[in-house]
Amino acid sequence: MAVPSERADRSLHVAIIGAGPAGLAAAIEFAKLPYVHWRLYEQATAIREVGAGISVQRNTWRILDVLGASKNFAPGSFYRAADGHSVQHRNGRTTELLDSHGQQDTPSNHLHARTRRSVLQKAILKEVDLSHVRLQSRLVRVEQRPGGRLRLEFEDGFEDEVDLLVGADGVRSVARAFAFPQHRISYTARKVYRSLVTYDEMATIPNVPDAVTFWHGPTSWLYTCPLGDNTYEITAMVTEHDERESQVSWGQEASFDQVTPHFQDFAQIVKDIIVLPKTVQQYALFAGPQLSTVVARDSIALVGDASHPLSGAFGAGAGFALEDVFVLARSVAWAHDRGLAPGDGLRLFDQIRSPHYRRLYGVLDKFAETGAYLNSLSPTPSFDTAVRILVENNWGNDHNWLYHYDVQKAWKDAVEAEDQRLQSSARARL
Ligand SMILES: Cc1cc2nc3c(=O)[nH]c(=O)nc-3n(C[C@H](O)[C@H](O)[C@H](O)COP(=O)(O)OP(=O)(O)OC[C@H]3O[C@@H](n4cnc5c(N)ncnc54)[C@H](O)[C@@H]3O)c2cc1C
Repeated sequence: MAVPSERADRSLHVAIIGAGPAGLAAAIEFAKLPYVHWRLYEQATAIREVGAGISVQRNTWRILDVLGASKNFAPGSFYRAADGHSVQHRNGRTTELLDSHGQQDTPSNHLHARTRRSVLQKAILKEVDLSHVRLQSRLVRVEQRPGGRLRLEFEDGFEDEVDLLVGADGVRSVARAFAFPQHRISYTARKVYRSLVTYDEMATIPNVPDAVTFWHGPTSWLYTCPLGDNTYEITAMVTEHDERESQVSWGQEASFDQVTPHFQDFAQIVKDIIVLPKTVQQYALFAGPQLSTVVARDSIALVGDASHPLSGAFGAGAGFALEDVFVLARSVAWAHDRGLAPGDGLRLFDQIRSPHYRRLYGVLDKFAETGAYLNSLSPTPSFDTAVRILVENNWGNDHNWLYHYDVQKAWKDAVEAEDQRLQSSARARL
């Protein structure tokens, strides 16, 4: 039960590990709390983003506004579909349009946008106080001191001691490995191949839709989408069960010969698009089961991919990361303002975010059910039947709640309930 903290010194030393969307957002939000002394540690030599495009969904815009980062997007630096769709689904063999998602009730400044990952990164980074950022700092070891503080050890021998460790270190999180040593991620048997071309290059192929398009097959899909700034994204997702894929690192150069065999049964337009770029990079997708909690030891909070290693599911990972940070910073401030221990704030954070992720993993369970159903069919369904079932079951509107989720309201409701609970237990003690 939450009890007022006896600590006289109410300052809080915070280490944020990782300068992806989660870590950068945490840097902005913790900088707003005057009693927090924070530092951001990033293993890379520079803050940069790998990969190609990223979706900025309604829930992502919501928090970009809070961070003050929405204004940092130049008008031409992202793509929004003129007819207001967020995504379209086509049969990759016949090219037939199977579904087009509208965005009714979404304010115009929060409509789905697609941009380069570096554009999102820079927009957030612009709001970060860089004097608190230490690059080339790979966290390698965490140890809890008898008094509860955490001693952090970095690869270059640098050390820090903090009250709160914010694990924003992505899908292979070291913070998570310390907090939950039994948790494992594994190769999902899925790989994506990503490349970028110019609008002019894409225009050499007739009839490519000016749209956010999935071209579906039974076990692979191609995704094409303008990103703004004269850049078109081409991403192919394939199923590869090869165990050696677990060795493939993020963003490794690949050959088109690895991609084209997966698209032999697709329409000519799809085959032409795949071989259009000059180079292609491969990303093996890793994921792990849901954690039962995203906090540990009264001093560790996991945010972003570290807290829910989902491998890019739903095209909203950056949005989830920003939502995590929004709730975490407010939960820490909530505990501080009421004279409670930081661990009480972490529990409130967990109370809001863990159920959200349970719901999200539930959607993935449904995807797995569709896969199992397709595998159970005998004879094996045709290309068109499998695609119809996949699009109907997995790509409909029923998980749109993810993008419309109002984390500000969720926070307000949770904090009101928690305050009421605290008042009731205080009255009961009198
Ligand atoms: C194929 C694919 C497509 C995706 N598409 C979308 C999309 O359209 N929209 C969307 O919102 N999301 C998308 N995502 C998900 C999104 O990329 C992630 O959810 C998001 O980047 C998570 O941000 P993060 O800050 O938690 O982690 P990351 O972006 O992974 O950042 C982690 C940071 O921590 C650093 N780090 C790691 N370990 C250490 C260490 N030990 N010490 C110090 N630093 C460390 C890393 O160098 C990195 O900078 C996609 C993901 C994939 C794989």
